[in-house]
Amino acid sequence: MTATLIKGTEIREQILEEITAEVAQIKEQHGVVPGLVTILIGENPASISYVTLKIKTAHRVGFHEVQDSQPVDISEADLLALIEKYNNDDAINGILVQLPLPKHIDEKKVLNAIDPDKDVDGFHPVNVGRLMIGGDEVKFPPCTPAGIQEMIVRAGVETKGAEVVVVGRSNIVGKPIANMMLQKGVGANSTVTIVHTGTKDLAAHCKRADILIVAAGVPDLVKPEWIKEGACVIDVGVNRVGEKISEKTGKKIAILKGDVDFEAAKEIAGYITPVPGGVGPMTITMLMLNTLKSLKFKLGVA
Ligand code: NAD
Repeated sequence: MTATLIKGTEIREQILEEITAEVAQIKEQHGVVPGLVTILIGENPASISYVTLKIKTAHRVGFHEVQDSQPVDISEADLLALIEKYNNDDAINGILVQLPLPKHIDEKKVLNAIDPDKDVDGFHPVNVGRLMIGGDEVKFPPCTPAGIQEMIVRAGVETKGAEVVVVGRSNIVGKPIANMMLQKGVGANSTVTIVHTGTKDLAAHCKRADILIVAAGVPDLVKPEWIKEGACVIDVGVNRVGEKISEKTGKKIAILKGDVDFEAAKEIAGYITPVPGGVGPMTITMLMLNTLKSLKFKLGVA
């Protein structure tokens, strides 16, 4: 059996087109577009390339995009004041502070200063609480878990009553996706198990999964014999395992591997996400969706 590939690159295109159409409609009816500010501190190359992609995507879907770059030695007080400025800016619906922050700044303090109604990353404790309650309470599901759920739904995989096993318990992937999959509603209503470094028999749990979501950050952690025949395997891991020369640009690029032994797993699974090109492209896409939602909540049309 060869699994159906769930391609994040294709789903991203569909969703970005849907967002673009909705932005145009809102602009026509209400005379406004979603506003997103990205605050970048310092010149970390990985952060710059991630932020550049966010800006490009925001422009593509027709958002009002503000790029606010600040020096690496900005004081914590000045950064908090900057966030307050955007909290009070009517043209801004989403505030994003690119992580990691320099060591002299308390990351928690900064993220908690963002107005929860503009916290499109979904990391503020208020939004974590809303996610836990579920249903209408949820405003901004965190972007990577939201992308995972969207991929499962768009692939047509049944989630109601499914055994979902999540490998990893981080606050940005493992815990929120597990919480989302157990709620009532579309793309959820599953029976969820979270496994982690303290779990006794990882393989036995994974083997039970109808939907296996792996976010451990360990290359090839999940072996083919841990996968149930026909299961849906979502590989969130992005691991740099070496470098190669890009055929396209002639430049050095990272060789990326997921947390699942893809080549062997695709012969057993029913559905599988590749790395790269699987979950990765979904995160920024869902950030755009959350920013659009933020404006819709404000206009009362969500
Ligand atoms: P993390 O390091 O914060 O958490 C990893 C979790 O996996 C931990 O809870 C740990 O207990 C568990 N784990 C680690 N090794 C394990 C093992 N051997 N057995 C069982 N459990 C184990 O990582 P994270 O931020 O959740 O990210 C996980 C992976 O997903 C990373 O490779 C990261 O790069 C990737 N990621 C991708 C995206 C994206 O594609 N958009 C977004 C976020 C994270």
